[in-house]
Amino acid sequence: TSDAPSPIATLPGDTPSDVVAAVVAERRRTFDTGRTHSLQWRRRQLQALSRLLDDNESEIVEALALDLGRPAADAWLADIGAIQLELKYVLRRLKSWMRDTRAVLPLVQQPGSGRVHREPLGVVLVIGPWNYPFYLTLGPLVGVLAAGNCAVIKPSELAPESARLIAELVPRYLDSDAVAVVEGGAATTTALLAQGFDHAFFTGSPEVGKKIMAGAAPHLTPVTLELGGKSPVIVTSDADIDVAARRIIWAKLVNSGQTCITPDYLLVSRDVLPKVVLALTTTLARFQKDSGTSALPIVNRRQFDRLSNLLVGHGGDIAAGGVTDPELLTIEPAIVVSPDPDSALMQDEIFGPLLPVVAVDGLDDAIQFVRARPKPLAIYLFSSSSKTADKVIARTSSGGVVVNHIGLHCMASALPFGGVGNSGMGAYHGHWGFETFSHRKAIVTKRTRPDPILLYPPVTDLKQRV
Ligand code: NAD
Repeated sequence: TSDAPSPIATLPGDTPSDVVAAVVAERRRTFDTGRTHSLQWRRRQLQALSRLLDDNESEIVEALALDLGRPAADAWLADIGAIQLELKYVLRRLKSWMRDTRAVLPLVQQPGSGRVHREPLGVVLVIGPWNYPFYLTLGPLVGVLAAGNCAVIKPSELAPESARLIAELVPRYLDSDAVAVVEGGAATTTALLAQGFDHAFFTGSPEVGKKIMAGAAPHLTPVTLELGGKSPVIVTSDADIDVAARRIIWAKLVNSGQTCITPDYLLVSRDVLPKVVLALTTTLARFQKDSGTSALPIVNRRQFDRLSNLLVGHGGDIAAGGVTDPELLTIEPAIVVSPDPDSALMQDEIFGPLLPVVAVDGLDDAIQFVRARPKPLAIYLFSSSSKTADKVIARTSSGGVVVNHIGLHCMASALPFGGVGNSGMGAYHGHWGFETFSHRKAIVTKRTRPDPILLYPPVTDLKQRV
């Protein structure tokens, strides 16, 4: 019937589609003026973004505490400091990145010159998740602005205080005709994509990523998809187990394990399994004692229920933690030893403070285990052998690999950050972000004379001529 619900219901927080259309149209008009192309405009925007973060640090920390229960130190490290580092890196290099690069033409095209010119794409849509609401909206914006584009940012409706603050601050600091924030959920994102963009940059789950790609397809909007998945940690017999345990537990506790590059599960050589489990449980207990907290906040009831369900029916032994509080929505980090590989705990992305530990029969078995599953965003390896590291790098596919640590590849602007296969497509950070949001235009410049007859008729002996 005519009043049948549309496939994606509009919710109270969504932006009406006529407003969405007007917002995008205005950014397109701004882009058409050409003012976003200059180095000066780009620099000013990046500097303004840095001021936005500096001036409003306490408001950002407060919003993150309200949305996610995140401690101030984590808020600085993961949301504020991380963007500032990226801004510094990009500002220092932007001028040289904008220079055309020379390309040598083949002999038959001489005399003449070739070069690659980077041009801004136009209006870029940035769609963010809830887990790092600033870092994963304003972080990609660094590359978008560095490349001279206009932008529309759609923060996650599931981190509402952060979304509201982003919507308030962005127009106050940045060129508001060029950069806009649109609030809402699935319906708003769908309405935005229907406008057509010059690029859509999405961070979120593989399931929603497929919908984003489908929504972008009618306009041939190119997409970068920063997705998730199960990032494994391989621990071999020759690993420094104490250091491994500290680094793994540290990473797992950040943002209550609600991080795309968090260790999802461990693959441990069977001969060191008891030692590794002991090191993990004692490290966890010590960190909990030292920080005075053991129950970690989960973002909302839906995620809490999902994680609580993963703790049931996995068929493994809980070596530590796992206590849930449905009133406070907290979960004590759980170490689950030898769960059933077919359980939901070992099939779904965990995205919370649960850490399964699986025994394997050596490196080949671990590699086989990883290869049999969708390509992860990261693979971590703890081993003292560089040969082992080379083998893991050569025989597995993932967005990135970190040897003897967790997550560090995400914090280096010189490295591309992105997934492969089920964990995403495309990459950003530093120069990689600048390239993602630029079009590489091939330019050939010729003189009019001499004008050799090479290509003109008769061309029957063209093969001999070239
Ligand atoms: P999500 O996919 O549920 O939501 C992401 C965004 O998509 C939000 O802005 C949301 O409003 C929008 N959205 C949701 N449903 C939609 C629909 N049907 N149509 C159009 N838009 C829709 O992800 P999330 O729960 O916010 O974040 C968790 C996921 O993100 C995890 O899988 C995690 O691994 C991944 N992640 C990846 C990275 C990375 O850099 N690769 C970083 C953080 C999180």
